[in-house]
Amino acid sequence: MKRVLLHICCGPCSITTIKTLQDQGHDVTGLFYNPNIHPLMEYVKRRDGCLEVAEKLGIKVIVKDNEYKPQEWFRSVAYREINRCFHCYAGRMERTSQIAKKGGFDFFTTTLLYSKYQKHDDISKLGQDLQSEKTRFFYHDFREGWQDGIVISKEWGIYRQQYCGCLYSENERYQRELGK
Ligand code: SF4
Repeated sequence: MKRVLLHICCGPCSITTIKTLQDQGHDVTGLFYNPNIHPLMEYVKRRDGCLEVAEKLGIKVIVKDNEYKPQEWFRSVAYREINRCFHCYAGRMERTSQIAKKGGFDFFTTTLLYSKYQKHDDISKLGQDLQSEKTRFFYHDFREGWQDGIVISKEWGIYRQQYCGCLYSENERYQRELGK
């Protein structure tokens, strides 16, 4: 049985991702590290949704509330907003790989590979760049569980967000409200 550290962005994205890893016989630990989620209470809703799923599926989650520093996140994307998603993925995945290495995990991976809305190939390449001999990146196209994840998250009443996470994405989601 291999130990996998799974970076989790929210509850709904984690359901079929965790199930897939468990079905393959892995020992899964979650990591909630997402300074890109704004504002704070949105972060709290997604964190709690992640913890609800974790409890149902019987996994532990490392929660990095002490590293929720949006100011640093904004600095990391300042003046490169057009390419902000790449930097956003990189920061979260780099921290995941560090924690995985320190914790002696065999693999690390991320629920970002579940989303049809994220840049799947960029995430996969970043994971490959961040792996080391002892702690490998676990690639799987978790998008295959997309529809099941939606259905189950609704059945379980897990909080489902309306925008990706950062204030930029919230602004894009609700642009139509301006000038009504
Ligand atoms: S849109 Fe999503 S992935 Fe892109 S920078 Fe914002 S939170 Fe990160």
